[in-house]
Amino acid sequence: MDLAVGFALDDLPPEIVDGLLAPPAAIVVDVTNACNLRCPVCPVTIAMTRPRGLMSRAVFEAILADFRDLPHKPELFFNFSGEPTVNPLLPEFVRLAVEAGHKTFLSTNATLLSEKLSRALLEAGLHRVYLCLDGFDAEAQESYRIRSNFARTKANIERFVRLRNALSPGRPLCVLQTLLTRFSEGQREAILAWARAIGIDRVRFKSFSLGSYTSAREKAAAERFLPRDPALRRHPEDDNPAPPTCGEPLHSPVVFWDGRLGLCCIDYDQKVAMPSILERGFLAAWRSPEAVRARLDGYRKRHAICRGCAYNAAAFRGYLVDLRAPNALSAADGPA
Ligand code: SF4
Repeated sequence: MDLAVGFALDDLPPEIVDGLLAPPAAIVVDVTNACNLRCPVCPVTIAMTRPRGLMSRAVFEAILADFRDLPHKPELFFNFSGEPTVNPLLPEFVRLAVEAGHKTFLSTNATLLSEKLSRALLEAGLHRVYLCLDGFDAEAQESYRIRSNFARTKANIERFVRLRNALSPGRPLCVLQTLLTRFSEGQREAILAWARAIGIDRVRFKSFSLGSYTSAREKAAAERFLPRDPALRRHPEDDNPAPPTCGEPLHSPVVFWDGRLGLCCIDYDQKVAMPSILERGFLAAWRSPEAVRARLDGYRKRHAICRGCAYNAAAFRGYLVDLRAPNALSAADGPA
């Protein structure tokens, strides 16, 4: 293997070298790291130190630029540290990405999903959306989604799906995501009945994580959200040893709102230094010696943030109910 990245890759399996040098399968776009809510076990609420900001059109266009003439178009995930709908440019970003041939995915707390914003996202051609509602009454939703209003959020979701069905049936794929907590565990049948009635395509019940960035005190405080049913809890890492390597840095980087490249969706505060895509473009940053070294160390789980990272260790991450095929239950996959 040549030394284009500044050091030998000879001792690595070919698929790992390919993962380090090929364009990524997906790019996680940090549309903003600001949020209108204050969820108690979220790094944006309790741990993030980097400056808050909104991605500009120039940064977003720099993500797209290198892929214009390539057949491979990474899927763009609008679901990082903040609430993406806080950035008024979100519908424009989706439109630009769709026009350039990328698949698009959005995850939103749905609290700001006005009729105007809903129409703009639908008209932009969004492919897939997670609409989050963390329970089926005010206590369940508002005890975790601090500053949200259950009735308004539920109405926003109903309107979004109604507009989707009227304006662009089937697109985006609408997935309702609900955290499995002490409050919501007994509401699952009611949530499924409502979701089916309003035209949601899938429901993802996501297991509750106490966080890998939380202090012992914060973890203890958050235990009040754990489901009573042990089968619905994430198993502690001790019970389910993590695999020795991690594929995330090989295929799913982050671009922070200011244009810097990020290792993976766990590195919300850019603890692992990577170059900016604004210097020489996305692919040059992705394949730079600095980034390849950092990504290889991520693959080998050698960064401090890898210690205790439950991303690929949790035994139970929840489950998915496909309302278009009501008998099909499956294990919930990754955050997207
Ligand atoms: S193990 Fe390390 S590289 Fe993998 S997701 Fe966790 S923090 Fe990122």
